[in-house]
Amino acid sequence: MKIISVEGIVVSQTPFKENSKILNIFTKDMGIIGCVSKGCKNLKSKLRVISERYAYGTFHLYYNDKGLSTLIDGDIKDYFINIKSDIIKTSYLTYICDLSMNVYKESENNEIYDLMESAILKIEEGMDPKIITNILELQYLNYLGINLNLDCCVKCGSSKVVTLSLSKGGYICQNCRTNEMIINEKVLKMLRLYYYVDISKISNLNIDKKVSDEIDNIIDEYYQEYSGVYLKSKKILKTLEG
Ligand SMILES: [Zn+2]
Repeated sequence: MKIISVEGIVVSQTPFKENSKILNIFTKDMGIIGCVSKGCKNLKSKLRVISERYAYGTFHLYYNDKGLSTLIDGDIKDYFINIKSDIIKTSYLTYICDLSMNVYKESENNEIYDLMESAILKIEEGMDPKIITNILELQYLNYLGINLNLDCCVKCGSSKVVTLSLSKGGYICQNCRTNEMIINEKVLKMLRLYYYVDISKISNLNIDKKVSDEIDNIIDEYYQEYSGVYLKSKKILKTLEG
């Protein structure tokens, strides 16, 4: 076994023996690594903090590519103090980690980690967790293989779009529209922005609540109908938000 240092976040944990845990660390470059953190439940253990759920930083491991690795030490990069002091934001963190793991399992693309990390850091900075999560969900469609065409009419290529059809997979123009309801122009424009924005570069989110709520509904519906991803953490989030 070799020693490696990886950046990542603890996305799930299970108790193991009396004082230990088995962690799943979603890493920046090596996907999801399962590892044993021996004795980390002891108050004096140096592994205690780095082995907590959503611990984010650098992990030093004895790496085993055929089974469980072993955590040796770690350095926390950010404690997510802002997120953890708020139950709603914490629920978003849970959902984002859950969703990201699921999306990663579908496509094993390292960009997924970067998107997840940017989204979490923006929520920690104080940005609206719902909007940031919607942006992430929309950008994940690519990795789930259910991309929406948000450039032009999905049927004829016209740029004069008037609505979105989830079943047809994108924008629709007036000529190609059949029974779809017209969608507010602002919502259509904002959806496209959500889709293409670099999350790490967002510095403010000045979005009308009606618009962002409508986008949230659209994304929800699309995930439910087409993604095949059903997460308990999403249900809990919806319940919490009432
Ligand atoms: Zn058309």
